[in-house]
Amino acid sequence: MTQAYAAESESSGLAPYSIDRRKPRPEDVAIEIEFCGICHTDIHFVENDWGMTIYPVVPGHEIIGRVSAVGDNVTKFRPGDRVGIGCLVDSCRQCEACDGGLEQYCTGKVLTYNGEDRQDSSITYGGYSESIVVDQDFVVKVPDKLDPAAAAPLLCAGITTYSPLRHFGVEKGHRVGVVGMGGLGHMGIKFARAFGAEVTLFTRSRDKAEEALRQGAHKVVVSSDESQMEAAADSLDYILDTVPVQHDLNPYLATLSVDGIYILVGQPEPVEPPVDAGQLIFKRLALAGSLIGGLPETQECLDFCAEHDIECDIEKLDIENVNQAYERMKKGEVKYRFVIDMKSLKSGG
Ligand SMILES: [Zn+2]
Ligand SMILES: [Zn+2]
Repeated sequence: MTQAYAAESESSGLAPYSIDRRKPRPEDVAIEIEFCGICHTDIHFVENDWGMTIYPVVPGHEIIGRVSAVGDNVTKFRPGDRVGIGCLVDSCRQCEACDGGLEQYCTGKVLTYNGEDRQDSSITYGGYSESIVVDQDFVVKVPDKLDPAAAAPLLCAGITTYSPLRHFGVEKGHRVGVVGMGGLGHMGIKFARAFGAEVTLFTRSRDKAEEALRQGAHKVVVSSDESQMEAAADSLDYILDTVPVQHDLNPYLATLSVDGIYILVGQPEPVEPPVDAGQLIFKRLALAGSLIGGLPETQECLDFCAEHDIECDIEKLDIENVNQAYERMKKGEVKYRFVIDMKSLKSGG
């Protein structure tokens, strides 16, 4: 049996729970988990916000650990290697998306938790547990230079912002706006800056200005201040919108210049009020979205962070405090990502 934390219903919260992990198949890597980040998606699944949770659910898709055993056909990893698992543990491996290393867009992808194993149809359990077994093709190497706890959120929050900035071509001299400064937003600032862009953070609260500059933003625009928004009109090439709740996109569209690209990575559903088509047409703007990243790009993201000394800002916690951590996240009281130290599970949490 493997110790884990699971929610057994939408109102139960998380509590200790024993799960079975499969014996490694020939292509599998078994991993002792050291750290697991807490993503907002975990809360949505635990509380069944999207109506698709299969209970019991063991959340966690920002996983860092050490390889403890490998299957007979594993060539990429050896026991002792430090590795990471993100949001995906398998995909169809036959479609165009999979061929292109874009497993996140495969319709047969298997989520790290609440997914269905393609071979035995069992429901997958995530990283709030002492160990996990994953096909080697869905495991990435964690460079030695990275702090393992601070690297955990790169597997979701990091790649979610890295991938679109890369894909849509942000580079030196571009002007990038980042909307929101939570787990995703602060990573967006760091990546856009590292790619050579001039970075503007949009925030509703004046208090966040100094902190945004510390994170690497060049400018801060207080979005609730109309004069500041007007002064920012037509001044940006890209906007990375990380806000996961409903908000009006139109004031931000006004800050894009001709051919600007607006990228949604939070998921405000539905987008209300409606997007002003006139702004899109009269400035040839593109409205886009992006989902995490594929396996090759996730590895690239970790390597890039090691090379450029980029880390997520985290607060470590013991797993017995996970329910309180959720409450604090719902109130926005975390800078910027909680990461569970999984030693706390073994020591009897
Ligand atoms: Zn996530
Ligand atoms: Zn596929």
